[in-house]
Amino acid sequence: MAAETPLLCKTCGANAVSGGEYLLCTTHFCEMVEKKVRTHIADQNLILDNEHIAVALSGGKDSTVLLYILSKILPYFERVKLTAITVDEGIPNYREQTLAYAQEVANFLNIEHRIISFRETFGGSLPSLLKKRNVSACTLCGVLRRKILEQETFSIAVPKLATGHSLDDEAETAMMNILTANIDAIINTASPNSGKESLRIKPLSVLNEYEIALYGILKGIFREFPECPYAGPSLRAEVRQMFLNMESTYPNITGQFADNYNSLLSSIANVENPSGKSKKECNICGGPTSGDICRACILIDAKK
Ligand code: SF4
Ligand SMILES: [Zn+2]
Ligand SMILES: [Zn+2]
Repeated sequence: MAAETPLLCKTCGANAVSGGEYLLCTTHFCEMVEKKVRTHIADQNLILDNEHIAVALSGGKDSTVLLYILSKILPYFERVKLTAITVDEGIPNYREQTLAYAQEVANFLNIEHRIISFRETFGGSLPSLLKKRNVSACTLCGVLRRKILEQETFSIAVPKLATGHSLDDEAETAMMNILTANIDAIINTASPNSGKESLRIKPLSVLNEYEIALYGILKGIFREFPECPYAGPSLRAEVRQMFLNMESTYPNITGQFADNYNSLLSSIANVENPSGKSKKECNICGGPTSGDICRACILIDAKK
């Protein structure tokens, strides 16, 4: 049997680490990924000179790659400072490992790191808060995690929060908003920042999951962690599978859908929400909300 011809990098001729549309060696694949992120940041003015950016760091694949790439492109800016924020939900046999890894990554990159726990902020870990409430673990976890990230981001000088959302995450969220006819979410994402909440930036939203995972592996920063014990069937998981299925017949349909959705958002940027809900301040914590009291304060029965 004839030996297989090795795939060679289309830029330098060295052994390629990835075939298909990439066909690049380790060096050129990583350069391509970093350049995509740098160009996206510059085109969209996601980071400006002299800014202090909070970076949500869970210790998982996407947020670790985000912090790593941001730290690498810092020299392209004047005096930009990063602060990594990790939320400890107190989920046993799961969070300890990602928490330790988040700490290791931040130390290695020499980036200031803050760890804020559910216990110190809301008086209990996720399992204990769940005992008294009739709400799913992921709903409570997501709302309270966002609340902590928002509060911590606001405590630093320039309230900008970078998250590790990928192109696939963006497409999934868009599809979920459409499937559930979540007009509030669609219009709120499209409308300009009100100044009452931190500005969310997603530097990795030009990379698909494959690019992020391969970059993490090639840089030696990818770690396998056990799945959260609360993870289960979800609409997001179904939508992810749907995009994966479609990709085999319609390559790049996920990216095209995310682009089309972003164009839709730009075209409705100044549309008034038909439900009459606008961004306000929570009567209890002062955080952003579309009602009188924010979701986090409702879920933890916060009192004024
Ligand atoms: S799976 Fe659910 S409970 Fe577990 S970390 Fe994710 S959002 Fe939180
Ligand atoms: Zn090469
Ligand atoms: Zn509130």
